[in-house]
Amino acid sequence: MKIKKVKLYKTVYAPEELPQTPYKEVAFVGRSNVGKSSLLNTLVNNYKIAKVSSEPGKTRSVNFYLINDKFFMVDLPGYGFAKVPFKEQKRWRDLIEKYLKERDTLKGVFLLVDSKVGPTEKDKQMKDWLDFFGIPYVVVATKVDKLKSSEKQKLKRKVEEGLKDKNLEIIPFSSKTREGRVEVLKRIERLLEA
Ligand code: GDP
Repeated sequence: MKIKKVKLYKTVYAPEELPQTPYKEVAFVGRSNVGKSSLLNTLVNNYKIAKVSSEPGKTRSVNFYLINDKFFMVDLPGYGFAKVPFKEQKRWRDLIEKYLKERDTLKGVFLLVDSKVGPTEKDKQMKDWLDFFGIPYVVVATKVDKLKSSEKQKLKRKVEEGLKDKNLEIIPFSSKTREGRVEVLKRIERLLEA
């Protein structure tokens, strides 16, 4: 897939603002600082759609990017940033829950985990949510350029153990080396076809 056109279609702060659209979509989710903005920018060849965060946990919105006038890449707000007040966390949960539950156009989710840190408890909760709602998902292990080759060999097992699941589809990714970019784009295409 070639990305020829990227447009920020809508920014949503509350469940009732979620747009009804004719387009299919795939979404990206992960804890704050996992490298989600960098991944999105790498996917679209640095159209600079998503702001790489200097302040983790800052973006609380759901951003709909219309790609090639054909489908959405949906940037879900990052989770797990300790300093976010409880009320904010609840708002995040309500928005994401409503999004995952009711979005008929959602064809799949990319769950980002930091390959150096490994899956966190919050990542496991997110995964359980996706299972619960029956949404197809692919795990993207970010920042693999940080791994030594011995660590890279153990990556799959580390992710499987952290998420307590041996049947995961995992794509190693780095926005630094662009490893995994083509795989993610191909996976998006397949999810949208299904
Ligand atoms: P977000 O909060 O999930 O959107 O994460 P960002 O994309 O803003 O990245 C968080 C931090 O991780 C920034 O300092 C990035 O430069 C760094 N980062 C993101 N992706 C990579 C990667 O693939 N490799 C390395 N080494 N650092 C990365």
